[in-house]
Amino acid sequence: MVSEKANQIGESLTLKVTAKAMAMKAEGIDVVDLSAGEPDFPTPDNVKEAGKRAIEQNFTKYTPNEGIPALKDAIINRLKMDFGLTYSKNEIIVSTGAKSSLYHLIQALINEGEEVIIPAPYWVTYPPAVSLANGKAVIIPTKEENGFLLSLDQLKSAITPATKALILNNPSNPTGAAYTRHQLEALADLVTKEDIYVIADEIYAHLVYDDFRFTSFASLGEEVKKKTILINGVSKSYSMTGWRIGYTAGPEDVISAMSKIQSHSTSNPCSISQMASVEALKGPQHEVSRMRSEFQRRRNYVLMRLQSIPQISCFKPQGAFYLFPNFSSYYEKEFNNVLIRNSYGLAYYLLKEAKVAIVPGDAFGADDYIRVSYATSMENLEKAMDRIIEAVSRLKTAKKVKRVALSNTITRVKKSVPVDSSISVQMRDALVAEMESHLSYQNYFEWNANINGVIVQLRTNVSHLSDFWIENWYPAQLETDLEPHGIIYAVDGITGREPRAYYNSESKTGVLVNCDYYTSLRSLALGLVTDVSERLFNFHAIRGMSADLEGKGLILVGPKGTKKTELFFTLLQDRRFRLHSNDLIFVRFTGGRALADSVERKLYLPTNTVEAYPDFAPLFDNSKCENVIARKEDCQDSECIRLDDCRLDRGSPFCYKASKQAMVLLDPYWIDGPSKHTKRTSLRWIFILRYDTVSPPFVEMDIEDALRILETGESLGSRRTLTPSKGEPFYNPHLLVTNDERMELQKSFFRRVLESTSCYLFNSGVASPEDIKKIVTGESEPPSHS
Ligand code: PMP
Repeated sequence: MVSEKANQIGESLTLKVTAKAMAMKAEGIDVVDLSAGEPDFPTPDNVKEAGKRAIEQNFTKYTPNEGIPALKDAIINRLKMDFGLTYSKNEIIVSTGAKSSLYHLIQALINEGEEVIIPAPYWVTYPPAVSLANGKAVIIPTKEENGFLLSLDQLKSAITPATKALILNNPSNPTGAAYTRHQLEALADLVTKEDIYVIADEIYAHLVYDDFRFTSFASLGEEVKKKTILINGVSKSYSMTGWRIGYTAGPEDVISAMSKIQSHSTSNPCSISQMASVEALKGPQHEVSRMRSEFQRRRNYVLMRLQSIPQISCFKPQGAFYLFPNFSSYYEKEFNNVLIRNSYGLAYYLLKEAKVAIVPGDAFGADDYIRVSYATSMENLEKAMDRIIEAVSRLKTAKKVKRVALSNTITRVKKSVPVDSSISVQMRDALVAEMESHLSYQNYFEWNANINGVIVQLRTNVSHLSDFWIENWYPAQLETDLEPHGIIYAVDGITGREPRAYYNSESKTGVLVNCDYYTSLRSLALGLVTDVSERLFNFHAIRGMSADLEGKGLILVGPKGTKKTELFFTLLQDRRFRLHSNDLIFVRFTGGRALADSVERKLYLPTNTVEAYPDFAPLFDNSKCENVIARKEDCQDSECIRLDDCRLDRGSPFCYKASKQAMVLLDPYWIDGPSKHTKRTSLRWIFILRYDTVSPPFVEMDIEDALRILETGESLGSRRTLTPSKGEPFYNPHLLVTNDERMELQKSFFRRVLESTSCYLFNSGVASPEDIKKIVTGESEPPSHS
């Protein structure tokens, strides 16, 4: 199990999108990548030469932790020449990329609970870097119409006694917005007055366009400089992203704290890269100017193309190499019935349909936008813009823009709880007294269900359980003096008790403690009803999935991993078959025939059934659900994550597949109209399922063999366990009472059922639903039994 911290932070999406674009290219797909966070130019030759020289001179060992003196000198010199700043060597530390500078800085500066103000849209790494230091990221959204700049008023109202620092990224990734000297001065006045630090991430300082004059925050005065920590590096200005050199300039105490942290994380940055960086900073600077003018040309081109798209707006940035257009008017549009809901959805659409990779704005805290990087050739930009414009022109206004507000409850308990079904009457009395004492008037739900003629009263303080209970069962007749056959207490919020169920057969009382998951309540109810039905009415239960063919019934029984659900719903796709029950039937004998009733008003199904039957999705959308995942953080499905194909990322508001505990109560009449469902059938065929690749497709069983298998409920091979294993008697997990006497009773009941039906051992590893059809329609003669 990894740490909660690691679980909570997402991987950098920019890196992920770029990796995806690269993987698609490797597969031969012609993707244009506009997700890059680095210049597309080569590292200048003089810099590469300096790196080579470092290797030749064996400058390949540890260096001083905070960087070599020659590099610190070069940094000091650059800061002086470019921004008029004066620093001494102990106010400088070199790190493994500016990202590592930031990480060490935030670790060195922020105490638990201290607040760091981050204007949004922000560079993706700021909020996780703050949370990893147990600080609190305070996100302040800026507006496009204000040039994506933080206003003085916004800053004022964000500052609290817990504020430790402001991160100011100038020019900004992802918006390209840059602050004028005048704008910075206003902010500087306030931060010095309030005595908070400014982390000035100026990594794009040299990439500003037109006549914009960049101002470094620390250059605003001595007082400001004392509270400013400047972050910069060689990655962007010298096209050296892979060399991993960033640096920090700031007050000596902060730098020395960073140095301590760095000494225990990365130590010194790469020796060779340090030597190359000396050359980058000290050598000729004309490559930077060349890159700047090329970027300006591309910015103008892409901006012009973006502005030609109807209904989008795009801010004209002063720096960096990104454009940040607002595409929100294309949300709620659709293509081939797929609705685009947000920036992830649009990014997915552009990748699949236009073969262009961009980064969704949500990654930067601005979901209305996407980030388009122009750090790629003009030829690529032309191609990408043609494709984007063409792809968005194909988006149509969705016919029915209906937001699905799912009726969904997330339960605290998500597993079936253990059941103690042999409690004494005394224990039952004590438990009931305890339960009653926790059922207050204000929060008490009571409802009588009629389950196969057995009246079961639910008494609960969990509104979700009451809700599902009423939805699931038929109501008992409304008579004031109605005596229920059995009572179930489902009481939550009892301190000191583990989630657990209890059952006492004499008094027909079920107790469910501290469990709000409907699976356990339903199973307890079915167990109670089975017990009562057997004793009072001589009705018995069979666990399985049953269907009807012109009044004659078949049932599929067997353990998990034998493709029961798949077989069942595939069979139902045949017009002639009607749905009877998906879990439990009650059987009684009349005229020598086993008459089977389905007793539930709704089917309680795992929502991941939609994977095999996509047509169910719109039905689930309008049904009551439990534990459907709506946030990626809660997803347990590693498959989609591995394939990088998460539907929540693509804009779905929820995912039916993401959790095995996600359930739905589906009205069986919705599946294909009233004629597709029947509540009663005359049972004729029993299929006991196994799954392997070698046994015959199906074998007709004699009564004794079938009884032996049913009695032990053994797994004769399933997709999960290939070796036979012992299972639940009669494949029925709802049976509460399993003493010898009751097992004998079950056995004699099943003997009667087998006498009036045909039973097959059916291998779903090799046989298909067609084989079942052939047997039950008499279209083929089954092979004689072994
Ligand atoms: N700050 C910002 C705003 C950035 O965009 C980046 C790179 N994407 C960095 C810092 C980190 O740069 P480096 O490659 O030096 O770690």
